[in-house]
Amino acid sequence: MNRMLVLRAAAAAVLVLVARPSLGAGDPIAIAVDAREATRRIFHVVETIPAPEGTLALAYPKWIPGEHSPAGPITDLVGLKISRDGRPVAWKRVPTDMWSFTCEVPAGRGPLDVAYDYVAPLTSQTTATSQLMILNWWSVILYPTGPNDDATMFAPSLRLPQGWKYGTSLRGAHEDGGRVAFTPVSLVTLIDSPVLAGAHFYTVDLTPGEKPGHWLHLAGESAASVAIGPEDVAHYKRLVAEARALFGARHYDEYHFLLALTDHLPSNGLEHHESSDNRAAERTFLEESAREVMGSLLSHEYVHSWNGKYRRPEGLVSGVSADYQPPVDSSLLWVYEGLTEYWGDVLAARSGLRTPALDRENLAIVAAQMDAQAGRSWRPLVDTAVSAQLLYWARPEWADWRRGVDFYPESELVWLEADTIIREKSAGKKSLDDFAKAFHGAPGGGPAVKTYRLEDVVAALSAVVPYDWSGFFRTRISDVAPRAPLGGIENGGWKLVYTDVEPELTRAAEEESRLYDFWFSLGIVVQGGDRDTDSDDGVIRDVVPGLPASAAGIAPGMRLVAVNGRRYSAKGLREALAAARTGGGSIELLVENVDEFRTYVVDDHGGERFPHLERDPAKTDWVSAIGHPLTPENP
Ligand SMILES: [Zn+2]
Repeated sequence: MNRMLVLRAAAAAVLVLVARPSLGAGDPIAIAVDAREATRRIFHVVETIPAPEGTLALAYPKWIPGEHSPAGPITDLVGLKISRDGRPVAWKRVPTDMWSFTCEVPAGRGPLDVAYDYVAPLTSQTTATSQLMILNWWSVILYPTGPNDDATMFAPSLRLPQGWKYGTSLRGAHEDGGRVAFTPVSLVTLIDSPVLAGAHFYTVDLTPGEKPGHWLHLAGESAASVAIGPEDVAHYKRLVAEARALFGARHYDEYHFLLALTDHLPSNGLEHHESSDNRAAERTFLEESAREVMGSLLSHEYVHSWNGKYRRPEGLVSGVSADYQPPVDSSLLWVYEGLTEYWGDVLAARSGLRTPALDRENLAIVAAQMDAQAGRSWRPLVDTAVSAQLLYWARPEWADWRRGVDFYPESELVWLEADTIIREKSAGKKSLDDFAKAFHGAPGGGPAVKTYRLEDVVAALSAVVPYDWSGFFRTRISDVAPRAPLGGIENGGWKLVYTDVEPELTRAAEEESRLYDFWFSLGIVVQGGDRDTDSDDGVIRDVVPGLPASAAGIAPGMRLVAVNGRRYSAKGLREALAAARTGGGSIELLVENVDEFRTYVVDDHGGERFPHLERDPAKTDWVSAIGHPLTPENP
């Protein structure tokens, strides 16, 4: 997928001084999570650690794989109590490392009991509503640090609210006195194996009788929300077949798509080797606009099993050596996330999750947003990857000037261009699919990690088609580039144009998010607008520096109160834009800025502007060719 810097050198020095007693390799740590109060968003945890006498260092995962950030939610780990044979054992937090604890384990017969709670906000990766929950073990675990990290096994178990069902890639589940106990696994595998559970739960077997097996698990807020229809199921069956055809091999023994259907949790996805944790709107399988907004979420997270989990940049190795405390170097996220964004969208098109028309709309919106972005005048794309740990958590205000996590959308354009270059140079005989097979494919098997550097990517591309790939990436990724990389669209047989017709995807996104898009006309995004029910209606979330609203003096965080003397509504603003275009008058915006009200006169006679792709008949239509399925329609 998806905040702070600490003095790592100092913390590491402290930890080195702490003696680390070895755990017996054969003694798993039992971790029992009691989620019966999950609907209050409280998870009770007891770990039973077979620790010998001496100093024990315990860590709470800080750098979370896939989050690319020190996002381990340590603030919400509460109620920590350690004991041995019923006698309390004092613990201390390492003063220079908030995620690390030590304690002196006294002599005794029994294991160390470590009890605590995780109290979750709705925004957490481990959280619950009244009807469903998602458990990411990294938010409920303390692990002994030291030389035996890789060998230490965990025996996980879970108690769920009465009657709830679950899905996970953990194996060997069996009922044991009201608990579900799983086969012991390494710390790395446990952290890589979330659990989705809920009262309304439905599992679809996507590849019946085949190995490896693939399952889609749905937990929703209502029975209707998980009643997925045969057409949607067919698309996800095709997604599995298309991914196999693309990569040629798989790096898992089972794959579980976990999908929470709820409006109470932010939409999100988090990748794992053998599963993905996805969150989308409650009515995703009931309403077209919600389905369109989810788009390529599951295909993106699925691609990560190859690109991100199996092939991983050298700098993003947290979770390979069972040490989640050292900071990561995320400068190759334009490959890890950017190429995944590309393949996620390509596979969505090939599997029918997105129509060719919506696929082009998506491409047009991505290209136009990147091209209009003011921040690209100072910040190269690679710096958005390097700064991912800051940008994921940055506020939306001034995002256009700051830049956001553009290593997703803009890199997709770069990878599209690479694909069209290969197709052009090989007269259609080769494509980026050949790179995918060579780089992410054979031999296949169970979960494994094979790290890479930029030179490995360049070498693998050169083996497909000789080209100055180093120079290609340097100018598009490392250099400040005043224009977005539109070469893929243009080589691909299309042109980016602007009309006053709102794209279907923009309309669907507005319906789902209530953020109204005047990005390419006035240069603003406005919260709410057609129902005057929320106190934040009319709040301007961001402006594009240089476009008319910003030029008139409007800034993010201000609130649009009235347009030409009438209370703000998105429709009213649209009409005012159209009238200024035909009638030539200016637009008067009454704007609230903290406690001041002021009228801004905006000169914008261009009317509404939305991006689209227009066919360039002089060129081969590679964009459509890339979206053609590789497998028969009914695998
Ligand atoms: Zn991702």
